[in-house]
Amino acid sequence: MVGSDPPGPVRVVDGNALAGMLAGALAVDATSLPLTCGHCGARFVLAQTVVEREPASALVRCRSCTHTLLTLAEEPDGLVVRMGTMELRFPR
Ligand SMILES: [Zn+2]
Repeated sequence: MVGSDPPGPVRVVDGNALAGMLAGALAVDATSLPLTCGHCGARFVLAQTVVEREPASALVRCRSCTHTLLTLAEEPDGLVVRMGTMELRFPR
């Protein structure tokens, strides 16, 4: 949403403003990314999660409480990663 900026130092801009912030972040080994379970608060790296793997998809669960953290699906146009209500698409 771009438009009425709230008062103070916060500027409301569109997602293009994230290009620089995410450029390096998306070029790492994802399995080493630290995460926190939004359900129980457990902290670990992605490699330490419990993964229910199928040929073209995976469901990633918290190793502490088994809450679903994210799902991944290989689709014809690329990889789809869903976290909560957010869906990220990584085109081929
Ligand atoms: Zn948990």
